Parts: sequence; C-alpha cells; structure tokens
Amino acid sequence: MSSVFSGVKNIFVKRSFKKKIFFLFLLFEITIIFLCLRILLIQILEAKFWQSKAYEQQTRDRLIPPGRGLILDRNLNSLAINQTAASISVIHTQIKDPEKTAIILSKKLDLDYELVLKKINKKVALERIKIKVDKNIADEIRKLNLNGVVIDEDIKRIYPYDNLASHVLGFVGKDNQGIIGLEAKYDKYLKGIPGKIMTETDASGKELKNGDEYRKEPISGKNLVLSLDLSLQKYAEQVLEKAVKAKNAKRGAIIMMNPCNGEIYAMANKPDFNLNDPFEINDNNLNSKEKNDKLNKIWRNFNINDTYEPGSSFKIITSAAGLEENKVSLESRFTCSGSKLVGGRHIKCWRSPRCHGSQSFVEGVQNSCNPVFMEIAERLGAQTFYKYMFKFGLDKKTGVDLPGEAVGIMHKLKNVGPVELATMSFGQSFQITSLQLMRAASCVINGGNLITPHFAIKLTCEKNNKQNNLSSKEVFKDEKILKYNKIKNIISQKTCVAMRYILESVVSHGTGNKTYIPGYRIGGKTATSEKLPRRSGKYIASFLSFAPAENPEVMTLVLIDEPEGIYYGGTVAGPIMKEFLEVALPHLNIKQKFNDKELNLPEAQVFIVQEYRGFETNIIKHELNKAEINFEIIGNGKIIKKQFPVPGEKINLDSKIILYTE
Ligand SMILES: [Zn+2]
Repeated sequence: MSSVFSGVKNIFVKRSFKKKIFFLFLLFEITIIFLCLRILLIQILEAKFWQSKAYEQQTRDRLIPPGRGLILDRNLNSLAINQTAASISVIHTQIKDPEKTAIILSKKLDLDYELVLKKINKKVALERIKIKVDKNIADEIRKLNLNGVVIDEDIKRIYPYDNLASHVLGFVGKDNQGIIGLEAKYDKYLKGIPGKIMTETDASGKELKNGDEYRKEPISGKNLVLSLDLSLQKYAEQVLEKAVKAKNAKRGAIIMMNPCNGEIYAMANKPDFNLNDPFEINDNNLNSKEKNDKLNKIWRNFNINDTYEPGSSFKIITSAAGLEENKVSLESRFTCSGSKLVGGRHIKCWRSPRCHGSQSFVEGVQNSCNPVFMEIAERLGAQTFYKYMFKFGLDKKTGVDLPGEAVGIMHKLKNVGPVELATMSFGQSFQITSLQLMRAASCVINGGNLITPHFAIKLTCEKNNKQNNLSSKEVFKDEKILKYNKIKNIISQKTCVAMRYILESVVSHGTGNKTYIPGYRIGGKTATSEKLPRRSGKYIASFLSFAPAENPEVMTLVLIDEPEGIYYGGTVAGPIMKEFLEVALPHLNIKQKFNDKELNLPEAQVFIVQEYRGFETNIIKHELNKAEINFEIIGNGKIIKKQFPVPGEKINLDSKIILYTE
C-alpha cells in the first residue's frame, strides 16, 4: 500500500515545483510593496509625529513654573504669596557615581536613599527628584557641583497668616493648582503660563557643546483682590476661637458682609487648619481612607457646603412677606396662649408652658413668639409663602464665588399642609445655608435688592510682570473689575423701612438686647435651632445683625454649633456679636451717635476720651485699667497709632475704647 502512495506523491511534487517558485516570488514582491508603503507612510503621513519624537529625544525640556497670582485683601495686604524655591532633577547619562549622588541627595532632601537611587538609575532623559525645595538647600547642592544634577527654578505657595481664612482662601497642590476655596475657584486666572528651557542633546541625553539653549519666560498669573478685610478677619477669628472654646462647641462661624453689594469682609470658621500644612493630621492610627475623610471634613466650609434649619432668624423673612402682602401691619395684635392649634395639632411657642399673651406685631418679633408667625404664614397661605421663599432665592445657590455651594432643601409645594407651613414660618422643617439666610435677610433691609455674596472684587496684573512677585503694594495695571448679579425690587421700600425699625427694637428691647452697644443703632434677630434628630439636646445658637439700623452698612452672623450648657441664641451668640461689633464698627468708620437717653446718663457714668495716640501702649493700658475703662488693643505695637472714639468725645462707662498699634 505504501509504495503505491509514494509513487503518486513524487508525481505531485514534480508538477507543483513551478507553482512553488511562483508563489515565493509573489510573496517577496508583496513584502517589498508593503515595505515601500510603510516607508511612504512614515515619511509623509507620520513625519511630523516621528520628527517631534526624535526632537524630544535630542532636546531636554524643563518647565519654568510661573509666579502664581497673589491673593490680597481689600487693602492690598498679601494673604497668599510665592516664595522662590527649586526643583532638583537628574540626567541619568551624566551621573558618574549613582550611589554617591543618591547618598548626598537623599541626605540633603530628606528622602529615602533607595528611592533616590532608583530614580537616578531610571533610563530617561530627565528624572525629577524633588520639587519645592528650600532655596538655601538648593544652593548647598549647587555648590557641590554634582555631575548630572540639575537645579531649576520653582515656586512655593506661602500663606503668611497660616490658619487665617483657611476655608475661604484654600490651598494649592504639588503642581500649584488650586485644590479648595478661592485658590480652586480662580485657578485659571491665578495659575499663569509656564515658561520653558529647551537644551539640545545627543541621542544619549548629553548636552551638545554647540547646542542651542532656548528659554521662554513664564507669564505670572493674575492677582486676586478680595473684599476680605485682614483686620476684621483676624479679629473675628480671635473672638470666635475664644467663644467656641468657652462653650466647648463643635464649631462656630462669624460672617460679616456688606448687605448692599454682597462684599464679604470676614468669614471666620472654627476649627480651622494651617494653609501651609493642610495635609497635617495628628492622628497616626488612621488608614488612608479615614485620613482622606477626616481631611475633607476639616477643609469643609460649613457656611457654604452645609445646610441647617435657620430657626427664628427666618422670622425676618416671614415678617417681610406678611408686611409686603398686607397680611400684617406694625399695629396688628396677636395673642399667644403658649401654642397654636394647626391642622388638629398644638404647635408650641418656645415659651410654653408659659405664654406671651396679648402683644403687638412688633412685640411679637421682639419676643420671637412662634404663634405670631404661624398666624402670619396661615394668612399668607402656602402658595404665597413659597412665592417669597423663591423671591428671596432660598431655592437657589447664592452664587458665592467658592466651590461646592449647597442649596436649600424644602418640601415640594404640593406636600405643604398646615403643619408644614406653620413650622416653616419659624424656620423649621426646611434647611438652607447660612449664606442663603444672610442674602435673603440683606434683601429685606437693603431696599429690596437680592445681591450676590462674594469675595473677589477684581483681577489685576502687576506693572512689571516679575517672576516672583513678593511685594504687593505696587501699582497695578489692567484691572478687571468682577461683576455680580443683583435682582432689584424684590420687596418695597416701605416694607424695608418697617423691617429695619422692627429688628432694631429686637436689639434695644427684645431677645437681642445682649448686643446693644450705646451709640450704635443695631438691628437683628436671634435664633436657637434644635438640631435633628429632635430632643437629642443639640442646638445651634445664632444671631443675625445689621448696623447702622437706619442705613445698614454691614450684616453679621454669629453661629455657635452645639454649645455646651446654655444654648439660647440671644444668650450665647449675643455677647459674641457685641464683642465683635464693638471693634468692627469703629474699624469700618461707622460713627457712634448717642441718642438723648444715652447722652443724659448721670455725670458719674460719663467718661471723656483723652488723647492716646503717640503714647506708649503700656502706659495707656495702665492708665485705662486704673480708671476702670473698657478698652481693646488691636495689634502688638509699642505705640498707639489710632484710637476710637476721638479725644474729647463723651462716652458712657459701658462703652469701649479701641486702640490700634499698627
Ligand atoms: Zn409666644
């Protein structure tokens, strides 16, 4: 069988020999054609790509970071600046002794030896070892003249006041991009455009002797001028820190804003963190997820990122809606029996089991009596009540120029029954941010304009576009004033004037009396919000004020979250407000005007202010202590530079003299 088959096979081989040769030639030709096409493709179509690839291999690009724009307060004090630093890199092919270089660099740069050695041995044109290296350390390394070690310019962001306004300013990451706060929000203006140094090298990465070095200068970012006032921010934080500690509270805030244009002068949050070391956590037992969560919590600006039940300060909004819709007037009378029957339920006044009895509308606001507001909301009806919630912007973000703003959470109108409406009338069963509350309340007292709260006023370029702009008080050019939205005529002038009058009486006669400062007309409303879940014994005590009452220039919110012991807004936040305003109002050049009652105090209680300017701080301190006069010294200087009130002015003994040493 096998011989028969082998014969057939031989015949087949002979016949197919010619065919085989043919196929071989065909294959050869196809390969040639393919290769030609490939060359064509590379030379024509992909030329640009491969050219740049080769160029990249033969040049070494080093980026020069641009100076990041400064962040300045309204008086051009620097809040965020740049410091010259260095970045250290290595060129693998030029390193003569990798181990020795690794020892030196790891020691000088405080890095792990193995890590540095690994980087040195990496076969790349340029490997970065460390960025943002202190200039002095970089100079020490430069002096050692190490082969293959390259030292380039770098920029380090510095916050001269460490913790000051940390939640507002935010900070930058490794490559100088903004991570939170204004640094993130305005990153595209602040960051600038990097420059470049390009050095021609041979294929092995060595610099060519006659190779060109090409340098393109970086362009600094724009400076950001804020509405924040450094002195007010400092003082707000000082007062708040003391208060949060004294009340052993979870956290606290003081916000001061111009209610007419939305410029924020101060936003203090405690606890806070150090902007020069934002990743620092004292707890070493946390895993990386726990650490991240904790950092995010620390960095959170709860005035903007979190909502809460505003409580009684919301009665400002209910009152304004009632007046505007003619459902209530200054003369209207109400009766409080300790509770009000709504939808078959008795909803209590805060004074229950006691009651407020018969009272006028104005007294109702002074007493913060819940049944008065339940009654007004009932007269308005849910639909009209909601019309004002929307008109005052409580369903929308305020538009503040910080990232991550939260928005109010409220019932859908169709779900609002009598009980929901009644509880909403005194600031419960819905949530807003503290900034939403300030914006709505500003509208009530500023003539009916819904403003946009904000920090940034303008963007500027420095006259000479220097790399490291360390000095701030230079002349600016190319100013770009930032514009913010303002919606006019939300409510009438008549309602505004009435509301200013009512709210002033809350401070002079009502629950806000702990903020009364002789010579100043202050309006405001206290609030004690019970936190959810109810009856857990956790409260937010707050106070919202504005001054001067007849022509408001500032609105201030003091908020203490979970105070220990007494938790009433008037009692807890009132004195903090007073302490802050006593310094803040004179600082803003808002003058004291005593009314007849304040001026007619018995002679013994009046003190005539002396000249303190130019005297040594210690001497004046001693003198005023001896005379038992309240005073506050701002700054640590040895000489008094400014004082308030001016010499010769009569003040009563309750007032405070403010002395500035800087
Ligand atoms: Zn009552």
